[in-house]
Formats: sequence, structure tokens, C-alpha cells
Amino acid sequence: MVLGEEDFRPLAEVAVRVGVNLQPGQTLILQAPAAHAAAARAVAKAAYAAGAKRVLTLFGDELLDRVTLEMAPEEGLKAFPKWLAEGFLQEGEAGAAFLSIIGGDPEVMRGIPPERLVMTRRAAQEAMKPFQMLTMSHRVAWSLIAAPSPAWARQVFPNLPQEESEKALWQAILRTSRADGPDPVGAWHAHMRELQARKARLNDLGIERLHYRAPGTDLTIRLPKTYQWVASGQKRAVGYPTAPNIPTEECFTLPQRDGVDGTVRSTKPLFFAGQRIDGIALRFEQGRIVEFSAVDGEDALRQVIETDEGSHYLGEVALVPVDSPIAQSGILFHNTLFDENASCHLAIGAAYPTCLTDGDEVRSDEDLLAKGGNASFAHVDFMVGSAQLDIDATTRTGTVVPIFRGGKWALPQGA
Ligand code: ZN
Ligand code: ZN
Repeated sequence: MVLGEEDFRPLAEVAVRVGVNLQPGQTLILQAPAAHAAAARAVAKAAYAAGAKRVLTLFGDELLDRVTLEMAPEEGLKAFPKWLAEGFLQEGEAGAAFLSIIGGDPEVMRGIPPERLVMTRRAAQEAMKPFQMLTMSHRVAWSLIAAPSPAWARQVFPNLPQEESEKALWQAILRTSRADGPDPVGAWHAHMRELQARKARLNDLGIERLHYRAPGTDLTIRLPKTYQWVASGQKRAVGYPTAPNIPTEECFTLPQRDGVDGTVRSTKPLFFAGQRIDGIALRFEQGRIVEFSAVDGEDALRQVIETDEGSHYLGEVALVPVDSPIAQSGILFHNTLFDENASCHLAIGAAYPTCLTDGDEVRSDEDLLAKGGNASFAHVDFMVGSAQLDIDATTRTGTVVPIFRGGKWALPQGA
């Protein structure tokens, strides 16, 4: 199936007008798969129509990345180009917006020795750290959208003929990204108003800690003193509202770094850096992961957890009901951008400073740690939502409020 510029136009509109909310005169840095040049052109047209000064596109190819991982000597894998990292930082500091088109083969790195993956990822993370501080605190506008690839479609719809599977995946992307109706940008504004209303109700509760109960899960998560729930559509540190993920269904915040205790079991597989991890079980003591296992991909999970000290702690607590549109589609997307928005999830690793009311003050890992948040090179989401999940909140005044029952919102109306 070949998608043209016109096919991508509605999603490109959403990405530009809502995702990064491009401002007149702004530069847009676009990262796109080489196979999706048509999507990149659609984004560029939407961006110039919105007043972009210049759209700069970096094309990549995951199979080329795989060649590098297979064949480059170790010193090559450890060498991330400094000029590239500095370029991102310079453009970010100069006010550019950043958009990525994702959607490759979820298991493209299958069979690559894990230590080689770690080597190249660590080099990139270390070089890009200053830029990551900008993105994590939303001092630059950034967003992600997806486009289908043949390999991704085969994994999501293994029982359909190739052409049909690609069509089905593209339809699912458009529907869940709310880009299939007559007015996608209007649909997003309505959706974000709903998310903002729910977020406001959560913030009004003044939650001290959350308690998760489900098969294999009995987990208490305390929240730091200046936590706040956030959702797409709110004004960011950059000065205007953005939607960093297209699609998005979540209200999320950060846990107190040392305030997580008990056990949790994942409910969907996670696809990380081209590897599959499934059946995760974690046990926490004072925030730290003290035991872990996975039914599938335990080595990949170990790599994630052993990234650094911070990857032994959680950085995100996100609430998504099992009746969200993505969950109701019943599709396992094999892609975290979609699967995390079908399910309550937690993230191993870094917290978003934006989840703190005083997050604007965070300029370093030390600042984040001092406010009770977690810092790490890693940020890996894993799904814990199910129709068996109950979540209670204990407020600062000691009242217990049901937040989720049977995987769905249980917030009292008007609370
Ligand atoms: Zn999330
Ligand atoms: Zn996350």
C-alpha cells in the first residue's frame, strides 16, 4: 500500500496545529522514516501553511540502523556525533519545534546482541542529555505521530493478507489519532478539554498516595509534595499548549522516588528498542526495584533496569481507562505510543519535571531529585491496566477515594 501526501494531510494537520502547536515564524525539525517521504511533505505543507519559517527534515532508516548495529566496530557504536547533539540543542534553545514520525518494525533489532544495543543507546543518551532536559521539561514543543510500515502491519494483523493488514493499521492509526473525521483539529480541541477537566478533578482531590490492586499487583505509590496531574492540551513551559503524543488518552503525574512499595505485574507486552518484553513482575521497596522477572525478554528488561541508578525507580504514573477508544479497538499495536494509551501504565526511569507545580525551576537531575522526582537516562513505559484493576487514592486529609474500579474511572461526579 502506497500512501500519498493527501492521505497524510489530516494527521499532518493534527501534528502541526495540535501536537507541536507550531507558532508563526518557528522552525520545525522533523524526523521521519525514509519510507515516509510523502508524510514528511504533508507535514512540511501543513507547517508552512501554519507560518513555519523553515522545515528541516532528517530522514532515517531502521534497517540501515540495524546494519550499523551488526557491522560497526565497538568504538563506532560508542561514538555519537557531537555536532548532531549540539545541533539539536542549538535549534531547541533558538525556539524550534520537534516532530517525529514513528512506526517501524517493532522487533527490528531482534537477534542483535543486547550489549551492542546498550552501547549505542547510551552514547546517544549521554550526547543528547542537554537536549533531553529541554524536552522532558517541555521548554521546547515536541510531538510524535505514527505512520504504518509493512513489518509493523504484519505484526499487528498477522492473519490478514499484507495489503489488507497495512490498510487496517492505517485506519486504526487515523481513528485512534482522531484524524479520521471531518474536523480533526476541532475533535482534538474537544478531546483535550475533556482530558483537562478530568485532570482538574484529580488535582482537586489532593492525593497523598495511590493503591493499586489487581492479580499479581498490590502496589502503593506516594506522590511528591508539589506533584500535579497533567494531560495534553495544557500550557507548557514553552508558553503554549501542546500534545506531545498523538494519540493520547492519559492523565499522568510522577511518583515520589522513594515512595513506591509492593508488587506489580504488567498486562500487555512492551516493545522497546526493537525488542519484546512480556509478563513483567516487579517488587519495590522504598521506591527501588528489588526483584524483577519477565516471561519473555527478561534480558531486555534487565538492560532497561540496569541502565543507571535511576532506572531502578519509577518516573511516571499514568491513568487510562479500559474503555478508552484505543483500548476498545481491541488492537494490540506492538508500539508503546498506542499501547500505553490503551492502559494504565507506569514508567521505569525519568520523571517529567512538568508533573511538578514548581517544575519550571528544574534545570538539572539534582533539582528533580531534590523535589522527590526520579532522574535517569531511561524512560520506559509498561502497561498495568486491566478490567481487574482497582485504584484507591488516599487524600492528604486521610479520606479514601476510589479512582478506578474494574479498570474504569470511578471518580465521583463533581469531585
Ligand atoms: Zn504516559
Ligand atoms: Zn511515559
